[in-house]
Amino acid sequence: MSLVVYNFLTRQKEPFVPLQEGRVHMYVCGPTVYDHAHLGHAKLYVSMDVIVRYLRYRGYKVRYVQNITDVGHLLDTGEDRILKGAARERLEPMELVEKYMRSYFEDMDALGVVRPDISPRASCHIPEMIEMIKVLIEKGHAYEVNGSVYFSVESWPEYGKLSGRRLEEQEEGARIPVREEKRHPADFALWKRAEPEHILRWPSPWGWGYPGWHIECSVMATKYLGQPFDIHGGGIDNLFPHNESEIAQAEAARGTPFARYWLLTGSLTVNGVKMSKSLGNVVRIKDALQEYRPQAIRLFILSSHYRSPIDYSEEAMAAAEKGLDRLWNTVIEVRERLARGDAPEAAEPEGFMEEIQRTRRAFLEAMDDDFGTPEALSVLFEFSKAVNSLLFGGAIVGRPILEAIDAIYREFGGHVLGVIPDVIRPDIPSDLVAGLVQLLIEIRAEARRQRDFARADQIRDRLRALGILLEDRPDGTVWRMGRS
Ligand SMILES: [Zn+2]
Repeated sequence: MSLVVYNFLTRQKEPFVPLQEGRVHMYVCGPTVYDHAHLGHAKLYVSMDVIVRYLRYRGYKVRYVQNITDVGHLLDTGEDRILKGAARERLEPMELVEKYMRSYFEDMDALGVVRPDISPRASCHIPEMIEMIKVLIEKGHAYEVNGSVYFSVESWPEYGKLSGRRLEEQEEGARIPVREEKRHPADFALWKRAEPEHILRWPSPWGWGYPGWHIECSVMATKYLGQPFDIHGGGIDNLFPHNESEIAQAEAARGTPFARYWLLTGSLTVNGVKMSKSLGNVVRIKDALQEYRPQAIRLFILSSHYRSPIDYSEEAMAAAEKGLDRLWNTVIEVRERLARGDAPEAAEPEGFMEEIQRTRRAFLEAMDDDFGTPEALSVLFEFSKAVNSLLFGGAIVGRPILEAIDAIYREFGGHVLGVIPDVIRPDIPSDLVAGLVQLLIEIRAEARRQRDFARADQIRDRLRALGILLEDRPDGTVWRMGRS
């Protein structure tokens, strides 16, 4: 078995062979941190997370770089997203960046997305960007007009090779003054002139300005991963012009290929409609997490292939929650039996070890075929059905079998897909705990009134062992969590 991936650059499945044996260098376009992350981010980064997790599971040493865009990503109106956010919240631009970068990682941590090994920020790589732009001008692929620098798409015949767009179909960039500066409507900015009132600006050979959005990824990806590197990931929504331009800049500047495999995720809709601020249907990850377990959100995302579009709805999430319960209930049963320690060492129901081996092979086969998480999940669900029949079928199930079953859940459901935690804690509402402790306090008070001090002390000691301390005060007994 070997891993096969769909390479968007060649539009076909190819065997995955990294440049250096046993190592994978991977870059994924990160978020622009001017607002809280939404479910579109969840779809992209959970999908990429499982790809990284699986590569690591297969024994590759992965260096995973995902940038933070904190300058240069403009809205259609020509405003910088960061500056607009900063004005909205009356914050220093870098204060806004810090706030939403933290918020982003908070959401990703909650979703169980493993952090990138390097999270480079665009604003910290301005000198490197200026260097690449200088090279592009020297080589005749870029030109300066009025303090701005544009990439000349006509100088690079391969422009369009990722998106499949021909030059004549390419739409021009936004505003009229910009259009007039460009030699070709599809030329895009590498560097923009900044007016004195523009806060986010840096000195450059072309005067004060700031970088275009695309250049940061060409620069940061290759700074940390080399050129070429193995995998470039991203969302299909950024295919053009962003990803297309990343390739053009890096390859025109250096004359070597940029990234070898392009893995792009499908987009996410909400109730069949594209998410947009103007429609008011943007679902923040934080809001979704209020309603659903993080593993259910992962399960929902992984139930579709990473390249496919996915539609978020209450029904879809209810199905994911239900699926998660089905999976977890079996896992909990297996782990409880293991914890009780009463399973015999030897007993092995006929043929079940083969079932486990079959599951193992089927799961790996699904994941080896371009990270086929929907098939991999159905392998786990089928397996759970078989495990349930075994557990409740009357046969005596031995410890080695239970351990082999749990290993499947830990490796595949836990490490690779991230939908089964190592420890499944029942979701106990905090007011239930408070109510139960209060009940015990009252029973203890009653015992003391009846001079049953042994029972009263027993309640206090058992609670202390559980990490709940009682304190008797003149006006009654209070409790707190703690060991001393
Ligand atoms: Zn990018």
